[in-house]
Amino acid sequence: MGKSGKSHCLSKSVSCYQCAWGPCQITHDNRSFLSPLKHREKTKPICGDTIDTILARNLLSLLIKGTVSTAICAKYIAGLLLANSSLIKNEIKLQQITKRFGEIDKKELILKALYDIENSGYNPMSFISNYFPELIRQDLMGINMVPHSTSSEILSATHLLTMCISSNPEDFLRQGFRLGLANLGTMIIASELKDTLLPPSRLSKSGSGISGNEAVRPIPFSAGFSFQKCLDILNRLNSTDPLKPLLDWLVSCEIRGFALLIGCTKLNETYISIIKELLKKNILILTAGCNSYSCNELEFGESKFGESRFSESRFIETKFIETEFFNSDATIKYAGRELGNVLCNLSKVTNIERALPPIWHFGSMIDFAQILNFLFAISTRLQIRLKDIPIVAIVNELGIEMPSATGFGILSLGIPVHFGFNESIINSDLITTILVQKTTELFDGRIILETDPTQAAKLLIGSIDEKRMGLNI
Ligand code: SF4
Repeated sequence: MGKSGKSHCLSKSVSCYQCAWGPCQITHDNRSFLSPLKHREKTKPICGDTIDTILARNLLSLLIKGTVSTAICAKYIAGLLLANSSLIKNEIKLQQITKRFGEIDKKELILKALYDIENSGYNPMSFISNYFPELIRQDLMGINMVPHSTSSEILSATHLLTMCISSNPEDFLRQGFRLGLANLGTMIIASELKDTLLPPSRLSKSGSGISGNEAVRPIPFSAGFSFQKCLDILNRLNSTDPLKPLLDWLVSCEIRGFALLIGCTKLNETYISIIKELLKKNILILTAGCNSYSCNELEFGESKFGESRFSESRFIETKFIETEFFNSDATIKYAGRELGNVLCNLSKVTNIERALPPIWHFGSMIDFAQILNFLFAISTRLQIRLKDIPIVAIVNELGIEMPSATGFGILSLGIPVHFGFNESIINSDLITTILVQKTTELFDGRIILETDPTQAAKLLIGSIDEKRMGLNI
């Protein structure tokens, strides 16, 4: 196993419910053992599949469900806008989106979004063609990994699950990467169209330009960050080249790099330790997804909403975030000195009294697209690939559908990803070996499956420093 991988081969059995001859349980020496209630006469699965095939198939099944969840969300928003375009309340955002497609009208845009989700053709998804930077698109086209549409990738993946289509784990994992990329394209559709439903903030009325009285108005952080909000902040430091201050901080190592934190469930102690270590080493964390609820619990006592986050209304999120982790106290307590200074300087230009938070929260899982757009802008500005920028990602569970699909998308962009270890899936040396090999071979990326938080943080910081060395900074 390579340095980023780790053997997780356990003695536990694995279950398969794929067909009516199951459920089957199989052990690591590929012995099935008898299910207590059914098929007591069986000595091996009737399909003949091994534990590796079953695990890879289970993983693909999980990625399908994650991508379907994103697709349902994107399709719902696009369908809503198609039925009633007067729901669009942010014409500026709409113009920003249509501009990417060559000034098409709003109906054409919505139809393109629906076509990307639903068509069964072979053209690349237009929201990938028009949002992913050219260098990244070229790389993906070179290895024939540009998704055709969300539905066609889901169909191909589901077909692969059918008995006798394939027993080769590599086929399942390769299709998993395609689903991951389709999931990212679909997230962009969902997040971008959703933003047209919200009235523009005062700041985005002037696009990314700030002038006159607006230059002294505080930027509200209660609703979290967005790509536009990041640009608006940086624009106050350099209105002709907003990304330059950020790049200067990267070069000077005041921001050592970026860590993307993606997940749906509560962060455990392992992840809390990793987060603390990254912040201490001046790595700015960008997050999306419900695990932000548990970020708020970081040594700030018992959370009011932590245990009931799925049943509580999302409307309480804003208040919660303001009062717990995403605030200046966390910067003072956890950020390294240089990162802390940057966040203090940013607070001055935004007329916030104290430092900006050390973890920037971009919203729900589909709003990972906002983080992507921010990173794509940096990649385009520098004319280098994302995989060459000091960025790592942490997906704190390979076992929940949407973050897993998002994680596979991030891996496919060549960004090193630390996956939360889930023994029911990564329970095979063969699967972890294929994942590590394919991630490197196809995307020049890296998968990290380290369970010890100190080691995991070291590997993540090491990846950031390798990218910095590659850039000569
Ligand atoms: S696909 Fe094979 S391993 Fe899975 S339930 Fe059916 S017979 Fe059992």
